[in-house]
Amino acid sequence: MIPARADIVVVGGGSAGCTLAATLVAERPGRTVVLLESGSGYTGTATAPPEILDAMRLPVGPQSVCTAEYPAILGSRSGAISRGRVLGGSGAVNGGYFVRARPGDFDAWPTSWSFGNVLPHFRAIESDTDFDDEWHGASGPVPVARTPWDRLHPVARAFHEAAVAAGHAPVDDLNAPGPAGVGRVPLNISNGMRMGPALSFLVPALGSPNLTVCANAHVRGIVMAGTAAVGVEVDDGRGIATVEAGNIVLCAGAIESPRLLMLSGLGPADELRRLGIEPVLDLPGVGRGFSDHPEVAVPYRYRGELPDRAPVLETVLHTDELELRPYTAPFADSVPGSGADIPVLGVVLTRPHSRGRLLFDARNPYAAPVVDYGYLKDPRDRAALRDGVASAVRLLTSMRDVVDTGSIGADAAGVDDAWLEAHLGTSQHLSGSCRMGSGDSAVVDDRCRVHGAERLFVVDTSVFPQVPSRGPHATVVMLAQRVAALMS
Ligand SMILES: Cc1cc2nc3c(=O)[nH]c(=O)nc-3n(C[C@H](O)[C@H](O)[C@H](O)COP(=O)(O)OP(=O)(O)OC[C@H]3O[C@@H](n4cnc5c(N)ncnc54)[C@H](O)[C@@H]3O)c2cc1C
Repeated sequence: MIPARADIVVVGGGSAGCTLAATLVAERPGRTVVLLESGSGYTGTATAPPEILDAMRLPVGPQSVCTAEYPAILGSRSGAISRGRVLGGSGAVNGGYFVRARPGDFDAWPTSWSFGNVLPHFRAIESDTDFDDEWHGASGPVPVARTPWDRLHPVARAFHEAAVAAGHAPVDDLNAPGPAGVGRVPLNISNGMRMGPALSFLVPALGSPNLTVCANAHVRGIVMAGTAAVGVEVDDGRGIATVEAGNIVLCAGAIESPRLLMLSGLGPADELRRLGIEPVLDLPGVGRGFSDHPEVAVPYRYRGELPDRAPVLETVLHTDELELRPYTAPFADSVPGSGADIPVLGVVLTRPHSRGRLLFDARNPYAAPVVDYGYLKDPRDRAALRDGVASAVRLLTSMRDVVDTGSIGADAAGVDDAWLEAHLGTSQHLSGSCRMGSGDSAVVDDRCRVHGAERLFVVDTSVFPQVPSRGPHATVVMLAQRVAALMS
């Protein structure tokens, strides 16, 4: 039964929503919080879909019951991307890489989000079992550990050795500030289980009398009274109900949060009129100017038999503008149904210049928007990816014990635009579709309140000013935990 009213309604029980709701109820027990999640729910590991528990596989793609698919434009190709649609959201289906944004990433954020200000929150969300020092927490909900050296997958180990031999600095702790280099990936995986924010934050809070979690509850829009958000309209499969709220926090992710704003009349006024939606607030940045990591896959073949069950990524190399990712299995194994049966080394542009936008269909604004990444439009991005592919080929060539060096599907001397386009994908780190800050294109202020609106917040990766130079998961959990504390 969906409650008719709450002090705070949280829309979306993904990485941010689970963290935020659990922190809100813990911080002030008198306050009622209702979490509405479109996907299915569970109350613990015994009732969770088994595929979200297995950290060695990513349950994504068209056959998955845990994701929603969106059409996407990747360079000159059309494709599709997945987002988690289950309690835990994308954090319930992801690769388990839990690496913080680097201190310099926060230079793009409002000054109240300096690295010094966010560090206590990075510490509060984690229990790092490898490091007990000024950078780490020991009693937070999310367990973080790196694969021990003696258990590293042969590809992960060979990659680390090759990168060090090539002159890259070995980095013990990728979650501590310091120079870039190669190191073991901090993982939110415990005994092979993916420990996303639903299991770490929300499940332990389920007994709180002031928290109600409603799964299979899809929010269709925000009820506005002038510029104040006063409730949400929700479809639970039996009918449409309205939940009145003191405050509404959108945590529906970087595609669905801007979509909900648009459908409720908050967005670029010209675009809203084109879609036949009466503007309530002109917010030109909604759904525009987002960033993500373009990722080029360099294929190769294993030499001999290798273990087929390991975390998807155990070591990475960061340079200032690239991340090189030696995936431990072909995507056909780690992403069932993907059909990609040869291993790849991922080359990721960490600070892309290209920006994207969500494309809505005027004939049916309620249809899923197309995610137009704008990848490779900026010549600097093309040049950096080409350099990255050349580095990847050199490293693979030196990994002779595990790589059949004659099989590498690119040339260290260089690849052309057609090759880049054919091997281009995305890391699925969409960020910045409702950016935080001031100025015309900003959608929320530094406390995640929607500019010009009352009682309305957005808290998920859409508010990042730009995609962090690492995967966004640890950073969005930190964001949600900090905003919950600021709302108290
Ligand atoms: C396949 C994949 C692998 C990834 N791997 C990594 C990784 O290893 N490391 C890393 O750092 N990052 C990774 N990412 C990215 C990272 O997981 C996400 O950026 C992060 O989880 C996003 O958190 P969020 O809270 O912004 O959104 P989400 O976690 O996506 O949560 C949004 C939630 O809102 C719900 N929702 C949406 N619309 C509505 C609505 N109208 N009504 C009610 N509920 C709604 C959704 O069902 C979902 O549960 C990966 C992403 C994907 C998709």
